[in-house]
Amino acid sequence: MRALRVKTQRAEELIDITAQVERAVRELGLRDGAVMLYVPHTTAGITINENADPSVKEDLRDVLAKLVPRDLNYKHLEGNAHAHVRSSLVGHSALVPVEDGQLKLGTWQGVLFCEFDGPRERTVWVVPLPSSTLAA
Ligand code: ZN
Repeated sequence: MRALRVKTQRAEELIDITAQVERAVRELGLRDGAVMLYVPHTTAGITINENADPSVKEDLRDVLAKLVPRDLNYKHLEGNAHAHVRSSLVGHSALVPVEDGQLKLGTWQGVLFCEFDGPRERTVWVVPLPSSTLAA
C-alpha cells in the first residue's frame, strides 16, 4: 500500500490526482489487476470524472454546494456538517483497473480528490489488487 499526500488550498475544491496515482502504481510494481483508492477522512471524498476541461471540476463542486448548503439547520455543531454530507454523497473509495502497469481510465477520465473542509493536508491510500488475487 502507498499513502498519497494531498495538500488542499481551499475550503472546497476538486483536485486531479491522476498523475500521483499513476506514480504510486509504478512504485508498487503493479502490472495487472486493479487499484483501490481510499480516502480516510470524513469531510473529503474521491470520484472519477473528466479532467480535460477543468470547468467540470468546478461544476461538480458548485452543484454539490447547492445540493448541500453550508447553512442548513444541522445538528452537528462543528460548522462542517455540510462537508460530512457532501463527503458521503461523493464516497470514500474508487476502484480503477490496471493493465500493463497503466491505469485503465477512459480517454477523458481522471481521479479527482474532493475537498469539502479545507485547506488541509489529506491522505489517499493506494491499495494494489494484483489480478492473481482476484482470479479464481
Ligand atoms: Zn465535523
